[in-house]
Amino acid sequence: MSQPHGPEFDNSYARLPDRFYARQAPEPVRSPGLIRANQALAQQLGIDVAWLESEEGLQVLAGNTLAPGSDPIATVYAAHQFGGWNPQLGDGRAVLLGEVVDRRGQRYDLQLKGSGRTPYSRGGDGRAPLGPVLREYVVSEAMAVLGVPTSRALAAVTTGETVYRDRALPGGVLTRVSSSHIRIGTFQFFAARDDHDAVRVLADHVIQRHYPDAATAERPYLALLEGVIARQAELIAHWQQLGFIHGVMNTDNMLVSGETVDYGPCAFMDRYDPKAVFSSIDSAGRYAYANQPGIGQWNLAWLARALLPIIDPDESRAVELAQQAIDGFVARYKEAYAQRMCAKLGIARVDDEAASLVDDLLERMTTAGADYTLTFRRLAELAAPNSGFHSVEHIFTLPDVLEPWLERWRELLERETSSAAQRQQQMLLCNPAFIPRNHLIEEVIQAAVERGDFDPFHRLVERLARPGEYAEADARYAMPPRPEEMVLQTFCGT
Ligand code: AMP
Ligand code: MG
Repeated sequence: MSQPHGPEFDNSYARLPDRFYARQAPEPVRSPGLIRANQALAQQLGIDVAWLESEEGLQVLAGNTLAPGSDPIATVYAAHQFGGWNPQLGDGRAVLLGEVVDRRGQRYDLQLKGSGRTPYSRGGDGRAPLGPVLREYVVSEAMAVLGVPTSRALAAVTTGETVYRDRALPGGVLTRVSSSHIRIGTFQFFAARDDHDAVRVLADHVIQRHYPDAATAERPYLALLEGVIARQAELIAHWQQLGFIHGVMNTDNMLVSGETVDYGPCAFMDRYDPKAVFSSIDSAGRYAYANQPGIGQWNLAWLARALLPIIDPDESRAVELAQQAIDGFVARYKEAYAQRMCAKLGIARVDDEAASLVDDLLERMTTAGADYTLTFRRLAELAAPNSGFHSVEHIFTLPDVLEPWLERWRELLERETSSAAQRQQQMLLCNPAFIPRNHLIEEVIQAAVERGDFDPFHRLVERLARPGEYAEADARYAMPPRPEEMVLQTFCGT
């Protein structure tokens, strides 16, 4: 048997010009311990699981040693944060260890988050408390299983060190994986300095890495913009469909690859409420559930602006083309959203009548304060006679205000060509029983932070890995919080 060995790195971002990053090794920690290694993800990436779980692997995941071929950097970016411009940000508590290429040729960043100070840390300590590390692990992996493009969690470790926030907390480091960490804010950083060469180099890098078809388009950089717009429209429609609230949609938290990133103050809604906000720092509700598509478009307009000088040398022509692309977001988003919401109801024929049925349902759910996830799950169960699966009926009853709506739904379903059984199958797939509810996340964080007990965390991760397979024995993971369990605010935990 061969010796366990670390990943094979190929670091394309570190080959870009020096002004794109600072070379920065992670800061060692006192006494690291492995909490969890994501074996399935490691296998997908072609990373040796035995190595990942070895002492050598642990030292790398904690930032204490560098794996051969790793060329760690902290990347620089700027951002609009809550609408305000910040010309200089960057990885303040993260370093990119390097990139790996999986068996299908897909490139991935391996990044440590919580790995110590960098030139972009400003006043921060570069560290992460354990709570946010566990939260990001749970939620990003749940999102991945639900089919949402997202950064992933390859591993979580404890550091044996204390992090000081409003109180002393145990520290952790997350190994984050995503197909890149290039943000809208990365483009903004160079554009704001009128560094058009850098914008072009970055755009070429992104085209090669994420939008290869754009390379042969008549206007590659416009095609790049359109590509990012299309993926973000899809992504945000997917969030809406699941009742996911990102919570901090600043332009540095929007990846041009179209993956979800930055699981800080995010939350899944329990009761349906379009105005729902959980983030403790979002007092104006800028990033409320219903605002997410509009904010997405606003963010993309800043990407468009950054790309203007390379879209066309004639500025007014560039503006015209970019504006058209940005305007196109609305139709793309609406279509993606309508399709996803109709699919949740077993409707393939997406038209005005179907869209009005969706709106009617959501209005009634708002009135009733109905649990978002369980309402749709229950509708999937009702779409055909129970064919042997466990029902959520014993933990959830549809509110009475849905009675007239159910009639309307059944009438509309008569237009469909699918059989009831087919519809149900498909509905069960896009209406999960299990989502990472806030109170469950809080519970596992508390057990880990207060008692050093990681069993609840492991159980939750494992339960969320099969979100569509309801079993009565796991009812507690599907139930909405009791009043005393409700989490009203989430924190970015920086
Ligand atoms: P976020 O709100 O998580 O997107 O973070 C905004 C910026 O603050 C990012 O550039 C982070 O790198 C930086 N940051 C957050 N927490 C810390 C920390 N503990 N130390 C240094 N920088 C941080
Ligand atoms: Mg961020």
